[in-house]
Amino acid sequence: KFQATGAETCFHGRHLSPQIYADLNGSNWSIKDYEARGGYAALRKILGKDGGEGMTADQVIAEVKTSALRGRGGAGFPTGLKWSFMPRQFPGQKYLVCNSDEGEPGTCKDREILMHNPHIVIEGMAIAAFAMGIKVGYNYIHGEIFEVYERFEAALEEARAAGYLGDNIMGSDYSFQLHAHHGFGAYICGEETALLESLEGKKGQPRFKPPFPASFGLYGRPTTINNTETFAAVPWIIRNGGQAYLEIGKPNNGGTKLFSVSGDVENPGNFEIPLGTPFSTLLELAGGVRKGRKLKAVIPGGSSAPVLPADVMMQCTMDYDSIAKAGSMLGSGAVIVMDDSRCMAQSLLRLSYFYAHESCGQCTPCREGVGWMHRVLERIYAGQGRLEDIDLLNSVADNIQGRTICALGDAAAMPVRAMLKHFKHEFVHLIEHKKPLVAPT
Ligand code: SF4
Repeated sequence: KFQATGAETCFHGRHLSPQIYADLNGSNWSIKDYEARGGYAALRKILGKDGGEGMTADQVIAEVKTSALRGRGGAGFPTGLKWSFMPRQFPGQKYLVCNSDEGEPGTCKDREILMHNPHIVIEGMAIAAFAMGIKVGYNYIHGEIFEVYERFEAALEEARAAGYLGDNIMGSDYSFQLHAHHGFGAYICGEETALLESLEGKKGQPRFKPPFPASFGLYGRPTTINNTETFAAVPWIIRNGGQAYLEIGKPNNGGTKLFSVSGDVENPGNFEIPLGTPFSTLLELAGGVRKGRKLKAVIPGGSSAPVLPADVMMQCTMDYDSIAKAGSMLGSGAVIVMDDSRCMAQSLLRLSYFYAHESCGQCTPCREGVGWMHRVLERIYAGQGRLEDIDLLNSVADNIQGRTICALGDAAAMPVRAMLKHFKHEFVHLIEHKKPLVAPT
């Protein structure tokens, strides 16, 4: 059983099945329905529009800190702490950015939120902007999802017409302008500084850090960037209190999280469960392993997260700390399930192709090393590998990890190291017998 966290969040406590996704013309995303579910009540609450006293910026940030909401895009950084980094008295423009450039293989949750519940993101952003004294925001939406961009634009129009965005929101002295920006589909633009470059109209390449966006972000101004799902959690926290949100999850891992379960399961899709739920429960919700086969391994947090063998994964709960303790990352919550019919060399070959293709080419270890790993894996998979290729792969991965401008280098290196750590015997078998241990599917 899992717990719904609030009626106003249409995705909370529900499985967003392909049938719901196909029913895009339903009216449940509209402002009328959102308000009927309690939508915009949190914004009204902080502005004191429902008879209350309203809230100060400090009180809003304090609630978010209490909730232990952590960034849902992958890094898991505490959201309230991030908001407190924004300089309050900065004399010029400051910006709020929503990162909807969802491109991590296996992840398909943010587009569902924007498609089915766009106003919850708008409300979450309006509250965040209030808390940080920001007057302008952008939602950067992945370039390959046109209907999602159009849906969000339509929702923005509704919110402006209803007085929830724009000048003097609901008659208050608080103003917030929010715009949608359609990206171009590059994976690297999900990296926050590459996203900012792209938003400025430049080539989407990551910046050196520091300076961090909190001090030098969009157009060189202080900027806070959060993931779509992170903003979507904020209205519930404000309405019900940070403590209530924290109690849904577990200490240091407040609330619920959307998990995109894909791969060898009977019923793939997005599932919202409280953080701290056993992995076995999530697997059950997804219908179990396909055709009753045996679970072999799981990538628990998007393709960048190190793979975990079945026995390790079955001991985990789905939260940041448990997965980190097991040697991987919760990341964006993309759970890729692999059964015993999977050839790990083939899986890694596919992953390595993705990263080699998506490297922006700016720094040498990533540009040269990621392509090199892919070529070695191609050689092994073609039956032309040498046993020393395994050490070579580990060595190249070691020399990429921690030596690049952005995390894409690490994201490409970690899966290689984890696959070779847990499933080395499959690579050795392929090299020695010139054919995979498990017949490729
Ligand atoms: Fe570009 Fe890769 Fe360097 Fe990131 S790590 S800046 S993607 S070359």
